[in-house]
Amino acid sequence: MGQLVTIDTNLENMTPPPVKHYQAYRPRPFTREQRDSTTILFGGLTWKHERIMQGALHNLGYKAEPLPNIAREDLDAGKELIDVGACCPTIFTTGSLVNFLKKEVATHGKDATNNKFVYLTAGACGPCRFGQYHESYSMALDGLGLRDFRLFLLAQDELDQGATGGGGLDINLPLSLGLVWSILCGDVITDLEYATRPYEVTPGQTDAVLQECVAYMYEVFRNRPDHGKKLGTLAWHLTTSYFTNALREVRKKWDAIQVDRTRVKARVKITGEFWLQTHEGDGNYNIKKWLESEDSEVAPPPVAVWLHYLMHPVIRKLEHRHSTSKHPKRDDAILQILERVYVRTYNRFRKALADIPSALPDQVELKNLAEPFYHFELRGGEGHMLIGKALYAYHHKKAHMICELSPYSCMPNTMSIGSMANVVGKYPDLLYAPIEVKGDAEVHAISRCQMILTEAKKRAQAEFDEVLKKTGLTLEAIHAYEKLHPELRRATYKVPHKGYSGTSANYVLHLAQDRGLARA
Ligand code: SF4
Repeated sequence: MGQLVTIDTNLENMTPPPVKHYQAYRPRPFTREQRDSTTILFGGLTWKHERIMQGALHNLGYKAEPLPNIAREDLDAGKELIDVGACCPTIFTTGSLVNFLKKEVATHGKDATNNKFVYLTAGACGPCRFGQYHESYSMALDGLGLRDFRLFLLAQDELDQGATGGGGLDINLPLSLGLVWSILCGDVITDLEYATRPYEVTPGQTDAVLQECVAYMYEVFRNRPDHGKKLGTLAWHLTTSYFTNALREVRKKWDAIQVDRTRVKARVKITGEFWLQTHEGDGNYNIKKWLESEDSEVAPPPVAVWLHYLMHPVIRKLEHRHSTSKHPKRDDAILQILERVYVRTYNRFRKALADIPSALPDQVELKNLAEPFYHFELRGGEGHMLIGKALYAYHHKKAHMICELSPYSCMPNTMSIGSMANVVGKYPDLLYAPIEVKGDAEVHAISRCQMILTEAKKRAQAEFDEVLKKTGLTLEAIHAYEKLHPELRRATYKVPHKGYSGTSANYVLHLAQDRGLARA
């Protein structure tokens, strides 16, 4: 027989469980005294950008280390620890930090890991998950039992934020300008790399020279001269030839690479969500590498376009007086000057590399091209730029096809893909491959891309045949001419755009029109 239990049904006698209020993550201070013993972790770009940025950080006396390149296991680690609705880039980047910390904890223990590292990541407010990345990271830290680990946000729209959380990290002009300039240098070198590798005569030579150049640029940034913390350093960065001279050295090293530009390649413009399109690795199924293995030339997306885009909503707001500024005209004028200086700096870097890296697209043109399909004030992700960039490449014949990398569970990208359906309806001959990236559905994504790529390759071949016919040139005549003019086979020889999407077609027309190579 069981015992009878009396239940007190009087609610007044019941004590409610203690309420545990949500508390946002607040990092422990990172003090100035801890600088020498603390390593700043960072990541999110390509290994080239990150190595050059590391030089800028070492230059300022910080210990700094990029996280290992994203791998497939990072997706699983991220999925385990963050919310189920997270977008694919959030899962990958959180997983990457998690896997790094797990290894450190296993080797050195929790306390040592908490004290030895801080994580620095870009942050912003905004309508997409980018505004809450740090919340995902803190959720993962909770899951790992590392609530004491420190992570800091580098707001992408403030170059001089001062000392943060204890003074260990001073987000001032020397730091911000060093990081931005290293990103711009990383961009132009990456553009040069992708314009060269598909045509290299000796397999592997581009990658070998690239390694050497990035190591050299690391030293250039590590030894950057000190010009104070305020206007002096700004003026120096804007006027110095220190970086352009360094890039000219890169060009000299690049001169050694021999190319054959008569190989016909489909030119593929990569667009999409910022992290996915920039990344080179498992996070986007190594799509750039795969495209090159499939006889394509990739037009990579420079980070510089994104930074340029960030200035524009502010400029447009000021122009339309939707700004809270007390001096909108003055602020507008300052921003316009800043924009010109920014584009000029990028062009100086391009020029040092023989003008081979592509120019930045005009942001006003991108906005106008996208306007009938996507309003520029719809922020989040890449906003109207996905539509603008696709149409820009189409109208200016910069690529045979667009490969758009869209993260699984990304709200802004879902909107732009929807708008692209309207664009493709209006421009049916625009070759557009939207690839949804989940991280674990590679076969599906690649096969979708392959279908469009097949058509792009046909177009590349057709325009090459057309230009051979038009000029009356043959491959034998071109190669014989190259023997007499070896500069044409150098990777640093600039082939002007002659109205074709493909490099080989532009090259042949250039030989006929500008170099006087005539039919036999
Ligand atoms: S743009 Fe999309 S993928 Fe990128 S952070 Fe925002 S929600 Fe995530």
